[in-house]
Amino acid sequence: MSQVKYKRVLIKLSGEALAGDRGVGIDIKTVQTIAKEIKEVHDSGVEIALVIGGGNLWRGEPAAEAGMDRVQADYTGMLGTVMNALVMADSLEQIGVDTRVQTAITMQQVAEPYVRGRALRHLEKGRIVIFGAGTGSPYFSTDTTSALRAAEIEAEALLMAKNGVDGVYNADPKLDADAVKFDQLTHIEVLKQGLKIMDSTASSLSMDNDIDLVVFNLNEPGNIKRVVLGENIGTTVSN
Ligand code: UDP
Repeated sequence: MSQVKYKRVLIKLSGEALAGDRGVGIDIKTVQTIAKEIKEVHDSGVEIALVIGGGNLWRGEPAAEAGMDRVQADYTGMLGTVMNALVMADSLEQIGVDTRVQTAITMQQVAEPYVRGRALRHLEKGRIVIFGAGTGSPYFSTDTTSALRAAEIEAEALLMAKNGVDGVYNADPKLDADAVKFDQLTHIEVLKQGLKIMDSTASSLSMDNDIDLVVFNLNEPGNIKRVVLGENIGTTVSN
Protein backbone atom coordinates (compact mmCIF):
# COMPACT_ATOMS: atom_id res chain seq x y z
CA MET A 1 0.00 0.00 0.00
CA SER A 2 1.42 3.38 -0.99
CA GLN A 3 1.99 6.00 1.67
CA VAL A 4 -0.93 8.37 2.20
CA LYS A 5 -0.22 12.10 2.20
CA TYR A 6 -2.94 13.03 4.68
CA LYS A 7 -3.88 11.32 7.94
CA ARG A 8 -7.13 13.24 8.47
CA VAL A 9 -9.22 14.88 5.75
CA LEU A 10 -12.57 16.49 5.37
CA ILE A 11 -14.26 15.69 2.08
CA LYS A 12 -16.85 18.13 0.76
CA LEU A 13 -19.38 16.70 -1.70
CA SER A 14 -21.95 18.92 -3.31
CA GLY A 15 -25.51 17.70 -3.03
CA GLU A 16 -25.56 17.31 -6.81
CA ALA A 17 -22.93 14.59 -6.53
CA LEU A 18 -25.67 12.37 -5.04
CA ALA A 19 -28.15 13.05 -7.80
CA GLY A 20 -26.37 11.12 -10.56
CA ASP A 21 -27.56 11.73 -14.11
CA ARG A 22 -30.94 12.94 -12.89
CA GLY A 23 -29.35 16.15 -11.62
CA VAL A 24 -31.82 16.48 -8.74
CA GLY A 25 -32.87 14.31 -5.82
CA ILE A 26 -30.92 11.35 -4.51
CA ASP A 27 -29.89 8.45 -6.72
CA ILE A 28 -29.12 5.60 -4.35
CA LYS A 29 -26.86 3.78 -6.86
CA THR A 30 -24.76 6.92 -7.24
CA VAL A 31 -24.49 7.27 -3.47
CA GLN A 32 -23.42 3.62 -3.21
CA THR A 33 -20.71 4.16 -5.83
CA ILE A 34 -19.32 7.17 -3.96
CA ALA A 35 -19.54 5.28 -0.66
CA LYS A 36 -17.37 2.50 -2.12
CA GLU A 37 -14.72 5.03 -3.14
CA ILE A 38 -14.77 6.60 0.29
CA LYS A 39 -14.46 3.18 1.91
CA GLU A 40 -11.40 2.43 -0.20
CA VAL A 41 -9.70 5.58 1.08
CA HIS A 42 -10.84 4.84 4.62
CA ASP A 43 -9.38 1.32 4.36
CA SER A 44 -5.95 2.87 3.79
CA GLY A 45 -6.09 4.29 7.31
CA VAL A 46 -7.18 7.86 6.62
CA GLU A 47 -9.52 9.53 9.11
CA ILE A 48 -12.44 10.94 7.15
CA ALA A 49 -15.11 13.52 7.90
CA LEU A 50 -17.72 14.42 5.31
CA VAL A 51 -19.80 17.48 4.59
CA ILE A 52 -22.48 17.01 1.96
CA GLY A 53 -24.36 19.95 0.46
CA GLY A 54 -28.06 20.04 -0.21
CA GLY A 55 -28.32 21.63 -3.64
CA ASN A 56 -29.76 18.43 -5.14
CA LEU A 57 -32.84 18.93 -2.98
CA TRP A 58 -33.13 22.62 -2.21
CA ARG A 59 -31.23 25.89 -2.25
CA GLY A 60 -32.26 28.77 -0.02
CA GLU A 61 -31.24 31.71 -2.15
CA PRO A 62 -33.34 31.07 -5.27
CA ALA A 63 -36.36 30.27 -3.10
CA ALA A 64 -35.85 33.60 -1.32
CA GLU A 65 -35.53 35.38 -4.67
CA ALA A 66 -38.89 33.87 -5.61
CA GLY A 67 -40.43 35.46 -2.52
CA MET A 68 -39.87 33.01 0.33
CA ASP A 69 -38.51 34.23 3.64
CA ARG A 70 -34.73 33.73 3.39
CA VAL A 71 -34.26 32.27 6.84
CA GLN A 72 -37.05 29.70 6.37
CA ALA A 73 -35.65 28.88 2.95
CA ASP A 74 -32.19 28.32 4.40
CA TYR A 75 -33.47 26.11 7.21
CA THR A 76 -35.21 24.05 4.53
CA GLY A 77 -31.85 23.73 2.75
CA MET A 78 -30.11 22.67 5.94
CA LEU A 79 -32.69 19.91 6.44
CA GLY A 80 -31.95 18.73 2.91
CA THR A 81 -28.31 18.22 3.84
CA VAL A 82 -29.45 15.93 6.68
CA MET A 83 -31.33 13.73 4.21
CA ASN A 84 -28.17 13.43 2.12
CA ALA A 85 -26.10 12.68 5.24
CA LEU A 86 -28.44 9.90 6.35
CA VAL A 87 -28.45 8.23 2.94
CA MET A 88 -24.65 8.38 2.69
CA ALA A 89 -24.24 7.08 6.25
CA ASP A 90 -26.48 4.14 5.44
CA SER A 91 -24.61 3.36 2.22
CA LEU A 92 -21.32 3.34 4.13
CA GLU A 93 -22.74 1.21 6.95
CA GLN A 94 -24.07 -1.32 4.40
CA ILE A 95 -20.49 -1.94 3.23
CA GLY A 96 -19.11 -2.27 6.73
CA VAL A 97 -17.92 1.27 7.56
CA ASP A 98 -18.85 2.66 10.97
CA THR A 99 -20.34 6.11 10.68
CA ARG A 100 -21.86 8.81 12.84
CA VAL A 101 -24.04 11.65 11.60
CA GLN A 102 -23.77 14.81 13.67
CA THR A 103 -26.10 17.70 12.97
CA ALA A 104 -25.72 21.38 13.72
CA ILE A 105 -29.47 21.54 14.35
CA THR A 106 -30.45 19.16 17.13
CA MET A 107 -32.67 16.26 16.07
CA GLN A 108 -31.82 13.63 18.61
CA GLN A 109 -34.06 10.88 17.25
CA VAL A 110 -32.24 11.05 13.94
CA ALA A 111 -28.62 11.92 14.60
CA GLU A 112 -26.14 13.04 17.24
CA PRO A 113 -25.85 16.75 17.85
CA TYR A 114 -22.57 18.27 16.64
CA VAL A 115 -20.08 18.03 19.50
CA ARG A 116 -16.49 18.61 18.44
CA GLY A 117 -14.93 16.38 21.11
CA ARG A 118 -17.19 13.50 20.20
CA ALA A 119 -16.48 13.99 16.51
CA LEU A 120 -12.76 13.76 17.25
CA ARG A 121 -13.26 10.57 19.29
CA HIS A 122 -15.24 9.02 16.44
CA LEU A 123 -12.50 9.86 13.96
CA GLU A 124 -9.82 8.40 16.24
CA LYS A 125 -11.89 5.23 16.50
CA GLY A 126 -12.01 4.95 12.73
CA ARG A 127 -15.59 6.09 12.23
CA ILE A 128 -16.53 8.35 9.37
CA VAL A 129 -18.28 11.43 10.73
CA ILE A 130 -20.81 13.13 8.50
CA PHE A 131 -21.69 16.69 9.46
CA GLY A 132 -25.29 17.53 8.57
CA ALA A 133 -27.41 20.69 8.72
CA GLY A 134 -24.57 22.94 7.60
CA THR A 135 -23.43 25.45 10.20
CA GLY A 136 -26.92 25.48 11.70
CA SER A 137 -27.28 29.12 10.65
CA PRO A 138 -28.98 30.68 7.66
CA TYR A 139 -27.03 32.82 5.14
CA PHE A 140 -24.16 30.33 5.17
CA SER A 141 -23.29 27.53 2.76
CA THR A 142 -22.01 24.01 3.12
CA ASP A 143 -18.70 25.23 1.62
CA THR A 144 -18.36 27.48 4.65
CA THR A 145 -19.42 24.57 6.83
CA SER A 146 -16.65 22.42 5.37
CA ALA A 147 -13.97 25.08 5.97
CA LEU A 148 -15.26 25.61 9.51
CA ARG A 149 -15.42 21.93 10.42
CA ALA A 150 -12.04 21.27 8.73
CA ALA A 151 -10.52 23.91 11.04
CA GLU A 152 -12.33 22.56 14.10
CA ILE A 153 -11.26 18.95 13.61
CA GLU A 154 -7.77 20.01 12.47
CA ALA A 155 -8.07 18.25 9.13
CA GLU A 156 -4.85 18.35 7.14
CA ALA A 157 -6.74 19.12 3.95
CA LEU A 158 -10.19 19.98 2.72
CA LEU A 159 -10.89 17.89 -0.37
CA MET A 160 -13.39 19.69 -2.59
CA ALA A 161 -14.85 16.97 -4.81
CA LYS A 162 -16.41 18.57 -7.89
CA ASN A 163 -18.79 17.16 -10.46
CA GLY A 164 -17.12 16.91 -13.83
CA VAL A 165 -14.56 19.69 -13.25
CA ASP A 166 -10.98 18.62 -12.61
CA GLY A 167 -9.69 21.75 -10.88
CA VAL A 168 -9.74 25.52 -10.91
CA TYR A 169 -9.56 27.33 -14.26
CA ASN A 170 -9.04 30.96 -15.23
CA ALA A 171 -12.35 30.77 -17.14
CA ASP A 172 -15.26 28.34 -17.30
CA PRO A 173 -13.83 25.33 -19.21
CA LYS A 174 -17.33 24.36 -20.35
CA LEU A 175 -17.76 27.73 -22.10
CA ASP A 176 -14.20 28.70 -23.04
CA ALA A 177 -11.98 26.24 -24.96
CA ASP A 178 -8.87 28.31 -24.04
CA ALA A 179 -9.47 28.08 -20.30
CA VAL A 180 -6.29 27.14 -18.43
CA LYS A 181 -6.20 24.98 -15.31
CA PHE A 182 -4.15 26.06 -12.30
CA ASP A 183 -2.08 23.37 -10.52
CA GLN A 184 -1.49 25.58 -7.52
CA LEU A 185 -3.09 28.76 -6.19
CA THR A 186 -3.10 30.83 -3.03
CA HIS A 187 -6.28 31.72 -1.16
CA ILE A 188 -5.61 35.40 -1.74
CA GLU A 189 -5.34 34.84 -5.51
CA VAL A 190 -8.65 33.00 -5.44
CA LEU A 191 -10.29 35.90 -3.60
CA LYS A 192 -8.67 38.66 -5.67
CA GLN A 193 -9.41 37.00 -9.00
CA GLY A 194 -12.90 36.00 -7.90
CA LEU A 195 -12.24 32.38 -8.93
CA LYS A 196 -15.27 30.22 -8.35
CA ILE A 197 -14.18 27.43 -6.05
CA MET A 198 -16.32 28.19 -3.06
CA ASP A 199 -18.09 31.31 -1.82
CA SER A 200 -15.95 34.15 -0.48
CA THR A 201 -16.88 33.49 3.17
CA ALA A 202 -15.56 29.95 2.81
CA SER A 203 -12.41 31.17 1.01
CA SER A 204 -11.67 33.80 3.69
CA LEU A 205 -12.17 31.27 6.45
CA SER A 206 -9.78 28.86 4.70
CA MET A 207 -7.19 31.62 4.30
CA ASP A 208 -7.47 32.88 7.88
CA ASN A 209 -7.21 29.38 9.31
CA ASP A 210 -4.53 28.13 6.94
CA ILE A 211 -6.62 25.30 5.48
CA ASP A 212 -5.24 23.61 2.37
CA LEU A 213 -7.80 22.79 -0.29
CA VAL A 214 -7.56 20.25 -3.06
CA VAL A 215 -10.11 20.75 -5.83
CA PHE A 216 -10.58 17.67 -8.04
CA ASN A 217 -13.03 15.77 -10.20
CA LEU A 218 -15.18 13.31 -8.30
CA ASN A 219 -16.56 11.74 -11.47
CA GLU A 220 -13.28 10.04 -12.33
CA PRO A 221 -13.24 6.72 -10.42
CA GLY A 222 -10.37 6.44 -7.93
CA ASN A 223 -9.74 10.16 -7.69
CA ILE A 224 -10.34 10.56 -3.95
CA LYS A 225 -7.68 7.91 -3.38
CA ARG A 226 -5.28 9.62 -5.80
CA VAL A 227 -5.63 12.92 -3.94
CA VAL A 228 -5.07 11.26 -0.57
CA LEU A 229 -1.95 9.59 -1.97
CA GLY A 230 -0.69 13.04 -2.95
CA GLU A 231 -1.07 12.76 -6.73
CA ASN A 232 -1.32 16.19 -8.28
CA ILE A 233 -4.54 15.63 -10.21
CA GLY A 234 -6.45 18.82 -9.44
CA THR A 235 -5.73 22.27 -8.07
CA THR A 236 -4.19 22.82 -4.65
CA VAL A 237 -5.06 26.04 -2.86
CA SER A 238 -3.05 27.11 0.17
CA ASN A 239 -1.59 30.27 1.76
N1 UDP B 1 -27.55 26.27 4.21
C1 UDP B 1 -27.63 27.23 5.21
N2 UDP B 1 -26.62 27.31 6.13
C2 UDP B 1 -25.54 26.50 6.12
C3 UDP B 1 -25.46 25.53 5.07
C4 UDP B 1 -26.47 25.44 4.14
O1 UDP B 1 -28.57 28.00 5.26
O2 UDP B 1 -24.67 26.61 7.01
C5 UDP B 1 -28.68 26.10 3.26
C6 UDP B 1 -28.71 27.13 2.14
O3 UDP B 1 -30.04 27.48 1.88
C7 UDP B 1 -28.14 26.33 0.96
C8 UDP B 1 -28.68 24.95 1.22
O4 UDP B 1 -28.63 24.83 2.65
O5 UDP B 1 -28.60 26.84 -0.29
C9 UDP B 1 -27.90 23.82 0.58
O6 UDP B 1 -26.51 23.96 0.82
P1 UDP B 1 -25.47 24.32 -0.35
O7 UDP B 1 -26.10 25.27 -1.31
O8 UDP B 1 -24.20 24.75 0.29
O9 UDP B 1 -25.30 22.89 -1.03
P2 UDP B 1 -24.39 22.43 -2.26
O10 UDP B 1 -24.41 23.53 -3.30
O11 UDP B 1 -23.01 22.20 -1.76
O12 UDP B 1 -25.05 21.17 -2.73
